[in-house]
Amino acid sequence: MASYGMAGKKGVITGGTSGIGLAAAAFLVQDGAEVLLVGKNPEKGRTALAKLDKGPGKAFYLQADLSTAAGCAAVGKKLKKANTPVDFLVNCAGIYEEQQLWDVTEEEYTRLMDTNVKSAVFVTQAVLPFLTGEGASIVNIASDAALEGNYGCSLYAATKGALVALTRSWALDFAPRIRVNCLCPGDVYTPLVEKQLQSGGYTLDDMASVYPLGRIGRPEEIAHMICAVLSPLNGFMTGSIIAADGGLTAK
Ligand code: NAD
Repeated sequence: MASYGMAGKKGVITGGTSGIGLAAAAFLVQDGAEVLLVGKNPEKGRTALAKLDKGPGKAFYLQADLSTAAGCAAVGKKLKKANTPVDFLVNCAGIYEEQQLWDVTEEEYTRLMDTNVKSAVFVTQAVLPFLTGEGASIVNIASDAALEGNYGCSLYAATKGALVALTRSWALDFAPRIRVNCLCPGDVYTPLVEKQLQSGGYTLDDMASVYPLGRIGRPEEIAHMICAVLSPLNGFMTGSIIAADGGLTAK
């Protein structure tokens, strides 16, 4: 595996117990980094740690519901207790839901906004005082839905558009000490997409057919992008919104 220069670096990945976040954690641990995975489900946390138990880096797990400010604050408390500076934060926790605007309930609005936007705002606030490592870096995981119109998921798209806007402003506010960038993946085969396919009334072939590359993405391909963006080798990039979507938004 190529080295991203992350050996000895420490950081936090929200949603690191599954899909894209877990794939990124695996690359970072293989590269020698220490990662704190934050997720809601302790069973998934245990399974993730077992998968990552191969070094040379290390993985730890914190159970927290990041849709609440208290859950986000728990991340800061954990870092304070560990009394250690960190070098990176990946805001990857998120959910996907489809609904037409005329069907949106307040409960759905709150769930999507709190899980996808509030979590990034308050986890970043909690981690910021500890992001003092040389070349510190934040990656927010948005979506192609933030960059173009899409059918039946306007609320989800709005949550991801918010991450794009937050990225640009944080890049200014946190410079020159911390770089902040945003990745916008197209569809990637993870538990999130499996769930989407079960409830969406379309097939994997339907989904793949709109991609110039003729397929959806693999978690490892987005994980590679996350590591490449975090890497100290990438020190001049901040405030960038990067599509990783098999050509979807190039059309
Ligand atoms: P996933 O379902 O495999 O992982 C999502 C992670 O978020 C899980 O670890 C889950 O525990 C965590 N999470 C959800 N709600 C939480 C909460 N309230 N508190 C704490 N943790 C919570 O999905 P994935 O596909 O790996 O998605 C990761 C990110 O990538 C999400 O933000 C998603 O919107 C984004 N994304 C995914 C795709 C895709 O096609 N898979 C495309 C574009 C963007």
